[in-house]
Amino acid sequence: MSPLEQELRSIIRDPGRIHPDKPLSRHTTFRLGGPADFLIEVADRRELSGVLVLAQRESQPVYILGRGSNLLVSDEGVRGIVLSLGGEFDAFAIDDTRVRAGGGYDLPKLATKVGKMGLGGIEFACAIPGTVGAGLMINAGAHGGDMSQVVSSAVVVWPDGSEQQLSPEEIGFGYRTSKLQSTSALVVEVVMDLHHADLATIEAHMKHHLERRRATQPLNMPNAGSVFKNPPGDYAGRLIEQAGLKGLTEGGAQVSEKHANFIVNLGDASARDVLVLMDRVRLLVQERFGVRLEPEVRIWGPNPYFTA
Ligand SMILES: Cc1cc2nc3c(=O)[nH]c(=O)nc-3n(C[C@H](O)[C@H](O)[C@H](O)COP(=O)(O)OP(=O)(O)OC[C@H]3O[C@@H](n4cnc5c(N)ncnc54)[C@H](O)[C@@H]3O)c2cc1C
Repeated sequence: MSPLEQELRSIIRDPGRIHPDKPLSRHTTFRLGGPADFLIEVADRRELSGVLVLAQRESQPVYILGRGSNLLVSDEGVRGIVLSLGGEFDAFAIDDTRVRAGGGYDLPKLATKVGKMGLGGIEFACAIPGTVGAGLMINAGAHGGDMSQVVSSAVVVWPDGSEQQLSPEEIGFGYRTSKLQSTSALVVEVVMDLHHADLATIEAHMKHHLERRRATQPLNMPNAGSVFKNPPGDYAGRLIEQAGLKGLTEGGAQVSEKHANFIVNLGDASARDVLVLMDRVRLLVQERFGVRLEPEVRIWGPNPYFTA
């Protein structure tokens, strides 16, 4: 056992939550990507800050993983420590219309659970297959709603292990982004103000959202949602489709026939295949329409194929 693993064992109560050399392909919805030196599930703030302080002292890069639904991990994987939020971070509490959720809690599960209790406002999230923490970080949204509309505050932990409560202004929400994205903040708690709503109306909204998803997205094949952000006033999917790129294939990766802004893993795609395909799509769209698409999917690890 390496000295680093020994130290990690003194911080993480259950060694079963420390996974050395862990392939991340099973932890991303693309179902691809190489290993992390360590994948560690932290259960509380003491463990989290302990690992962060150790990583800082040992100059180990730290990543945080949610459901891996907006993530492309390189074939070489990532060096350093990948954290996932379990235990106290995977829970929520309700006080009237105020919902306090851990950063590791499943966002669609939260939308469904609070919806059944008659709380509306996050129906839009019922089909966004990520965590609350990542949802805050990228201002996840759909069907005209997004996190910025409901969040009243959040708690983040910085790489030195310190904690800070942030207001919506400090979070700095933008379209599928927040100011936090350019920082190393880890989102451990999000407070949302919802409203009492009619149960049947909430259910009808969610049913509508889920049916639209099934009709328009390639949910039967591994993917990571929208690959590119929508450019101002337009849709990335429209531009890619109009450029005739549906079905374009590189190795095991393909521009979805069903939704042009999705790339699907046909079964044996490598991260390289996806990145090369993203580069070709961006180039061909730029040549045809003069619009440079920005990636929405986050890329981890070495990537000589696509300049983000
Ligand atoms: C079929 C499908 C449909 C989708 N539809 C939508 C949609 O309608 N709208 C939409 O916005 N997105 C959509 N997505 C993309 C994705 O679900 C969201 O971006 C989601 O918020 C990502 O959450 P995650 O937990 O999977 O994050 P990951 O993919 O695990 O991580 C994404 C990024 O967030 C960071 N991160 C994760 N957790 C934290 C944390 N606690 N604190 C700080 N940073 C963190 C990671 O380090 C990484 O950089 C879709 C994806 C799929 C596969």
